[in-house]
Amino acid sequence: MSSSIPLIEIFSSLQGEGMLAGYRQIFIRLPGCNLDCAYCDTVIEASSVCRVEASPGCGQFKEIAQPVALETVLNLVRRWCTQLPNAHHSISITGGEPLLHDDLLAQWLPELNILLPIHLETNGTLSAAVSRLIEHVDFISMDIKLPTAAATPALWDEHRRFLEAAHERDVSVKVIVGELTVEQELVAACKLVSGVDEEIPFIIQPVTDRDGRVSVSPQRLLQLQAVASRLLADVRVLPQMHRFLEVP
Ligand code: SF4
Repeated sequence: MSSSIPLIEIFSSLQGEGMLAGYRQIFIRLPGCNLDCAYCDTVIEASSVCRVEASPGCGQFKEIAQPVALETVLNLVRRWCTQLPNAHHSISITGGEPLLHDDLLAQWLPELNILLPIHLETNGTLSAAVSRLIEHVDFISMDIKLPTAAATPALWDEHRRFLEAAHERDVSVKVIVGELTVEQELVAACKLVSGVDEEIPFIIQPVTDRDGRVSVSPQRLLQLQAVASRLLADVRVLPQMHRFLEVP
């Protein structure tokens, strides 16, 4: 089995979302996704080259040939950790939907996890894949897609199975909301989470545009926070901080 894959990019930046917001991470972005959310603005197709930050945090990228070998990534992470001791909290495995590559991650994560903790950012639908990899993952940030906001089919069963599997680790749930979010869908997401564990952190993330503008009114956010708090113990409202910090 090959341990190389076309990647989209590797860079060092601040985590802008969820429970680990504010921590610095090394981001490894994998291509492809099994969903097609209305608000998606992520590049998910790999090109003929992978963008790699020339040095951690410099914002300048060089291009390396695809597919990228595990050894190349390990050498890069080791170099950046030596250059900036203790600066990186963890490695964020992100996408797209990284769990589409579970065969490859089964080889990569044990090696990467020796260097830094692993944070998996996922749409929370591929439960078999997360079960397979769970022992090599430290933090999981999973989405629950609200069907109206994401314009996806209802995925409640997929999300429930995923959360049950992910609950073995430090997991948090994120829902993206807009001004038109249907309250019953938020309630359904909260009930799904409370059915597994009402203490799981639940993050309401307003749609944030590329300029860092949040397109949901404060009144609406407070309303949704109150609704979720009736069902869950740890509800937070967090925008995508990297947008207004203007970091990648
Ligand atoms: S799950 Fe994420 S990457 Fe996939 S389409 Fe939705 S927003 Fe985009």
